[in-house]
Amino acid sequence: MTLRGTCSSCAQRHGAQRIRPLKSDMRFDTSMSRKALIAANWKMYKTPAEAKAFVDAFLPLVAGHTRDEIALFPSPVLLPTVVEAARGSNVAVGAQNIHFAEEGAFTGETSANQLTAIGGTHTLIGHSERRQYFAETDEIVNKKLHTAIKHGLVPVVCIGEVLAEREGGLTESVLKTQINGGFAGIKGLAAEVISSIVIAYEPVWAIGTGKTATPEMAADAHRIIRAEVASLLGADVAANMRILYGGSVKPDNATALIGQEEIDGALVGGASLKPDSFTGIVKY
Ligand code: PEP
Repeated sequence: MTLRGTCSSCAQRHGAQRIRPLKSDMRFDTSMSRKALIAANWKMYKTPAEAKAFVDAFLPLVAGHTRDEIALFPSPVLLPTVVEAARGSNVAVGAQNIHFAEEGAFTGETSANQLTAIGGTHTLIGHSERRQYFAETDEIVNKKLHTAIKHGLVPVVCIGEVLAEREGGLTESVLKTQINGGFAGIKGLAAEVISSIVIAYEPVWAIGTGKTATPEMAADAHRIIRAEVASLLGADVAANMRILYGGSVKPDNATALIGQEEIDGALVGGASLKPDSFTGIVKY
């Protein structure tokens, strides 16, 4: 078996090339489509008026774009505005973070229930800035993942190595640790539920730095991730799970990155803040 995109859109995007075997010699048959997801992480930028102006300008630019899924991840205070502005369009809206608890005395946090009640459908989990500045561990990521799934949200679980780990040759073991910790207890769930989970591979040294992993470096990491997901959750689940790349994606490098067979979309920070620039990535 080879790892290949078998849906017509993937075949057009990537071609049906043979992927070199992984170290683990694990290979998959991608028997279902992996529609790319192009996601905007706005971090702590924009006021409600600026967020509304973005959506009003952006929707006409991507109207009728069905090749890829598009999602915006604004800060919590912007969510109702953005959900309302994007209602009925081809653009989904999610949170940058949720708490794992159903409700309670967790000042400053947002619950999954609150998110779905206002129309949010996706959530980032374990973004490297949450791990770095808010002490999010794989254990917390795991609890949030279970909560997101319980509430029918599409979870985008972020993983990736810091520069010292890459330079120390630790990338593979870091990714495996993050996957095993973050995905604990997921194996027993239904295959369709597990396959709805999205992973975003974001090498931390490439986030907001202007340094981008080369398409080959990114694809290598994606192959490691998919192989680990396969050994943990099964080859079929792994073949159908979308793995995005994030880290200084821009309109001029989007095609080379997302065009890789292994890369199923992008999580975009800085370049997602302007409608033109984000559109350039969506339409890579
Ligand atoms: C991010 O915030 O997830 C990100 C990838 O940021 P940037 O595109 O600015 O590197």
